Amino acid sequence: MSESTAAAPETTGQSFSELPLSPKIQANLQQLGYLKMTPIQAASLPLTLAGHDLIAQAKTGSGKTAAFSLALLTKLNPRRFAVQAMVLCPTRELADQVTQEIRRLARFEDNIKVVTLCGGATMRPQITSLEHGAHIVVGTPGRIMDHLERGTLKLDALDTLVLDEADRMLDMGFNDSIAYVAQHCPPQRQTLLFSATYPETIDKLARRFLRRPQEVKLAEQHEHGKIRQRFYEVKHEERLEAVATLLKHYRPVSTLAFCNTKQQCRDLLDLLRAQGFHALTLNGDMDQRERDQVLIQFANRSCSVLVATDVAARGLDITQLEAVINVDVTPDPEIYIHRIGRTGRGDEDGWAFSLCSPNDHRRVATIAEMTGMEPEWHTLGSLQGGNKSPLLPPMVTLQMLGGRKEKIRPGDVLGALTGEAGFSKEQVGKITVTDQTTYVAVARDIAREAVRKLSAGKVKGKTVKVRVLED
Ligand code: AMP
Repeated sequence: MSESTAAAPETTGQSFSELPLSPKIQANLQQLGYLKMTPIQAASLPLTLAGHDLIAQAKTGSGKTAAFSLALLTKLNPRRFAVQAMVLCPTRELADQVTQEIRRLARFEDNIKVVTLCGGATMRPQITSLEHGAHIVVGTPGRIMDHLERGTLKLDALDTLVLDEADRMLDMGFNDSIAYVAQHCPPQRQTLLFSATYPETIDKLARRFLRRPQEVKLAEQHEHGKIRQRFYEVKHEERLEAVATLLKHYRPVSTLAFCNTKQQCRDLLDLLRAQGFHALTLNGDMDQRERDQVLIQFANRSCSVLVATDVAARGLDITQLEAVINVDVTPDPEIYIHRIGRTGRGDEDGWAFSLCSPNDHRRVATIAEMTGMEPEWHTLGSLQGGNKSPLLPPMVTLQMLGGRKEKIRPGDVLGALTGEAGFSKEQVGKITVTDQTTYVAVARDIAREAVRKLSAGKVKGKTVKVRVLED
């Protein structure tokens, strides 16, 4: 599948050579092409390298990972086989990204070990990795707490604790687990807190766990999205119908519906389709191309609902997701947290709905206990789903023969649609170029006309075969 590469962040005029970083680290930064510091790096590194605790306002894409990683790597002693730094993250995706970035920045030494500890994965391999020795641990608070309780993770030698996307961790109900973890860190440590927003709760957290922190605030930031969690009591046999009711009432553009079993995925897909929803599923029997097509349609907003099990949804990273529905309550609170963490990203608000039969109450209680969240119960009867029309996705995916092999670029397709075909930029959505095929999302009301005009015209000087990708 084609990858969209993250744009390089905006940098300042200041270079890393102004900082007291070792020549090896400097050389590695040069190799990575990090020539100038980003604003958050320039503002925070002089403070953190001098040993201060820090509260920094920074979003993903600002270079915040390098900002805290360079501070912790500078203090790290590779010959000391103990966990010296730990980064707490709200989701597994973020933890994986942070781990990757730390590994890149740690390349100046051969043997710095970074271990990721997230929920939803089996414990055993994590325990083995810890036994083999880790210098840096990155993970989600619940799972790290779990390792501390079992005694498989020791933090006596910890020098640096980082709370990444702290506001998001609090939104997701991690308050108590963060407190538990922080209380197990040595008091003589440096604590760095990164957050996109500064609600009162962040202030409280900082006052509890940071010592005389320096603050770094950058220019104007948007309100950060919130995850609103609602629990609905349903009879077991009402579950699937309840998903349709939720969708008709809240009308989210993109929803990820989690089922505990593959059979339930199939049943839900059948029910939703029978009611006119544009729903797709991901399962292990699909080949790569089928999987790509599903993900492309979901990400470009031409599919309203993606139905999946936790395993099938692994690694899925969709930025605009209005809702997550837990068709079943999962017995594992960490999985619950990972599921809901996929909504409310960036500046958007997100919904997290859970359908619970009377037997599920214990599971909800465990989730509430572990996350410190007070479940908000609602009744299905309060929803107006019944007489509303089915939800239609705003976009339709067109599939065009020819891709990277034919040297097609997104700009060529955009040019064909907005040039000769006469459509506006706003009517064209995401364009994904794979090896042999190009997918372009267009507004639903122009789909047929766009197929006709593209087929009659030319892309990159050649006639092309185009069709609507039916879901
Ligand atoms: P982050 O906000 O930490 O997710 O970083 C966003 C992206 O910027 C990542 O892909 C980093 O590899 C990259 N990056 C971070 N700092 C710099 C820098 N000083 N110069 C160029 N790229 C950077």
